[in-house]
Amino acid sequence: MRAMVFDQVGQPLALREWPVPEPRDRQVQLRVLACAVCRTDLHIVDGELPNPKLPLIIGHEIVGRVTRVGEYVSLLSVGQRVGVPWLGWTDGQCFYCRSGRENLCPNALFTGYTIDGGYAEFTVADERYCVPIPESYADADAAPLLCAGVIGYRSLARAGDAKRLGIYGFGAAAHIITQVARYQGSSVYAFTRPGDEKGQGFARSVGAAWAGGSNERPPEELDAAIIFAPVGALVPAALAAVRKAGTVVCGGIHMSDIPSFPYELLWGERSVCSVANLTRQDAAEFMSIAPKVPVHTTTETFRLDQANEALNQLRSGKLQGAAVLTCNENP
Ligand SMILES: [Zn+2]
Ligand SMILES: [Zn+2]
Repeated sequence: MRAMVFDQVGQPLALREWPVPEPRDRQVQLRVLACAVCRTDLHIVDGELPNPKLPLIIGHEIVGRVTRVGEYVSLLSVGQRVGVPWLGWTDGQCFYCRSGRENLCPNALFTGYTIDGGYAEFTVADERYCVPIPESYADADAAPLLCAGVIGYRSLARAGDAKRLGIYGFGAAAHIITQVARYQGSSVYAFTRPGDEKGQGFARSVGAAWAGGSNERPPEELDAAIIFAPVGALVPAALAAVRKAGTVVCGGIHMSDIPSFPYELLWGERSVCSVANLTRQDAAEFMSIAPKVPVHTTTETFRLDQANEALNQLRSGKLQGAAVLTCNENP
C-alpha cells in the first residue's frame, strides 16, 4: 500500500510503499476512505509532542471500511464503515480507567501518534475503540467529526451551561461546535486572528452571533470561552472576557506558554481548565447528536500524496473548516 510516512522533525512526510498491516486479536483491518487533518498532526510533525512512534503514519480522524478481522473480533464484520479516533487503546485497569476517565489513562495508545494512523491506504484499529459513523454523512464529511467534533464536544461540555460562549481560534473544531452550541440554545462569539475578515465571515456563516479579532472585546460579557488556537496569550484575553465564575477551557493538546497576568483576571471564581483526549462515551454521544443538529462540515479535500500541502495550509491558517485526505483513488 501507499502511505505518507513521518521519519523526523523538520522533514516533510514521505510517500512510500508500506506493508499492509495485518489485524491481530481484536483488531480490524480497514481500507481508509478518508482521513481528516488535525492540528495535533502538525504538533507531532513539528516536534511539539514527545516520543512519537517512529517511523510513524499520522492521522487520527479515519473513516474506513472493514476489509479483514482479527481472530477475536466480535463486534464488527467485513464491509462495515466505521470511524477511528485519537484514543486507540487503554489498559482498562488504572485509577483513571476505573473512574470513567479513560482519556487520562497513562498507558493509553493514541492513533497516529504512538500507533500508526490513517495517512495511508489501509490501517488497523482495535474494534472496541472504533466509532459508528452516522449513515447520513459522506466519508469526507464525516472524518472531521472524529476529533474536531468529538474533542470539541468534550470541550463544550466542560464549558458548562453557557448562554454566551466565546470560541478562540475558528478552525475545524470551532465550526462544528458552533453548530452544536446553537442547537443547545447558546450564542457563539467567535475570535479569529486580528484582521482575518474571511475567517470572521466564515464564523458568521456557520452561526456565530458575533465575530471579531482576538484583540477585541466581545459586545457582551461571556459565560464561558473555549480556546482552540494553540496560543497561550489567549488565556488572559479570554479570562478578561468572561464573567465572574466563568470558565475558560483550553481545548488543544499543545499551547505556547501562557504569559503572566494579574490575579484580578482570575479573581471572582473564574477558572481555567484543559481538555485531554476523549473517552468512548464522548464519541458515542457526539455521533448521536451530530445528525440531529444536523452538523454540516466544511471540508477541503486533498489526495493522500498532497498531505504535506494540507498540513502547510493548516499551519498558515488558510483553510476554512477542515482538510480531509481521500486516501484511496478507487474506494
Ligand atoms: Zn485531533
Ligand atoms: Zn487506564
